[in-house]
Amino acid sequence: MRPVALTGLTGTAPRLSAGRRAVVVGAGLAGLAAATILAERGCAVTVLERESFAGGRVGSWSDQLADGTRFEMERGFHAFFRQYYNLRALLRRLDPALGFLRAAPDYPIITPTGSETFTGLDGSPLVNLAKLTWRTETIRLPDLLKVDKVAALEMLRYDPERTYARWGGTTSKAYLDQLNFPSEARLRLLHVFAHSCFNPQEEMSAADLLQMFHFYFTGNPDGLLFDIADRPFGRAIFTPWLALLGQLGAEVRLGTPAAAIHRDGNGWRVDTGSDSLAADWLVLAADVPGLQRLQAASPGLADPAFAALLTGTRPTLGFAVWRLWLDRPVRPDRLPFAGTAAVGCLDNISVYERCEDESADWHRARGGSVVELHAYALPDHRTEADVKAELLAGLHRLYPETAGATILHDRYLYRRDCPSFAAGSHAVRPTVRTPLPGLVLAGDFVRLPFPSALMERASAAGILAANVLLDGAGVRPEPLWSVPVKGLLA
Ligand SMILES: Cc1cc2nc3c(=O)[nH]c(=O)nc-3n(C[C@H](O)[C@H](O)[C@H](O)COP(=O)(O)OP(=O)(O)OC[C@H]3O[C@@H](n4cnc5c(N)ncnc54)[C@H](O)[C@@H]3O)c2cc1C
Repeated sequence: MRPVALTGLTGTAPRLSAGRRAVVVGAGLAGLAAATILAERGCAVTVLERESFAGGRVGSWSDQLADGTRFEMERGFHAFFRQYYNLRALLRRLDPALGFLRAAPDYPIITPTGSETFTGLDGSPLVNLAKLTWRTETIRLPDLLKVDKVAALEMLRYDPERTYARWGGTTSKAYLDQLNFPSEARLRLLHVFAHSCFNPQEEMSAADLLQMFHFYFTGNPDGLLFDIADRPFGRAIFTPWLALLGQLGAEVRLGTPAAAIHRDGNGWRVDTGSDSLAADWLVLAADVPGLQRLQAASPGLADPAFAALLTGTRPTLGFAVWRLWLDRPVRPDRLPFAGTAAVGCLDNISVYERCEDESADWHRARGGSVVELHAYALPDHRTEADVKAELLAGLHRLYPETAGATILHDRYLYRRDCPSFAAGSHAVRPTVRTPLPGLVLAGDFVRLPFPSALMERASAAGILAANVLLDGAGVRPEPLWSVPVKGLLA
């Protein structure tokens, strides 16, 4: 873990001296991170959240099964990787020991013809890579000789400037084709990186894929280790986080969307439909579709330079999350989480009673399993029935003991709110800073000056957004942390 040099931030004061008001739009990780840092430095913060729950894509809400069991449904299983330094620093404010996280026993990728494991790779990145290549049965010496060495070395040569200049306009698919890995090894070892940020290989930039390799594997001293929450995210994270914000004097208004934004003298005014809030500072931490709608409805965001910032930002294809309550258990050796490949649109399988307590209670009481299936980068023409049929076929193929199971209950979500990292878009993707005074952006769509992804990028962007605002008032920034910014051979 290395501290990130916060270029251009020079503030030294521990807290704000004059009263400042900030409105944060969105209570996902990015918005909550920004709100926390601002409130800790003495800013009066109001967070507006459209949904009735906090957490955004990690959020959860109350639901009830037909058998009367109450539970928290979530936007889907999440893995908390060890190198999520900034997210973990925020979560330690809620639980210093991070007691709700349990180490995942393994990170397998399973296919109909065999599986790959990323476990035991917690040495130096070079040793990890050598170990993985040596032990995998899907790459033999003759295959290795056919691999494009120059393209392969790019995984160890990540450099934020050179990599984006060289590979930013190439798709991940074109890069992986050029790499010429044996097809089974490509599926088991590389597919997971390409799909885990929801973008199809045909769209996602190869530079972003290389950034993912670097951040998760080749540049990550912690190896591909992750933890799992042992209870629903609402109870583990967001109820305590809202309580912390309350203690810091911040107000969080759930079920209250920001409807329109106006300039107001030197500051801002945010309409909610029932209220109008004045603010010196504005943090826009909405998801990409939400941000685009807000921009379109806001006279204060009509500035052409600001509108131009959003032109490189759009959601990628949709994804589905299908949670099933089965009448019988899966095999005892099934892991809490497994990535999958070569089984249609199925991308992973989670066995929830091996993850969190609510599902474990249901499993003990009813004897069945709670299984969650994910499908990412779904083409638009896919129907719900078609996706469900393919997910179920994938589950039956990889976990044959489920083939005769009856689905007692299910919950199906289809959403399209993850950002696209399309080839050619890097140069026009927004950063935290905007041309509008006192207005910053935060979220997992934002370009950061260090490698990061998904929940960690959302959290780091939120902290950086708060730092930029605080710096304008001479207040010292919150430290940020990163894996090495460049690859070993960069
Ligand atoms: C199925 C799934 C699985 C995932 N698995 C992982 C994983 O294993 N590991 C990992 O690191 N990441 C994972 N991710 C990604 C992770 O969830 C996101 O990267 C992260 O949560 C994004 O946070 P955010 O704050 O940027 O955006 P969001 O969480 O989308 O938050 C934005 C918030 O803004 C709100 N909003 C929008 N418009 C308005 C408005 N006008 N007014 C008020 N509020 C508004 C939204 O309701 C939302 O709450 C997964 C995502 C999904 C969907």
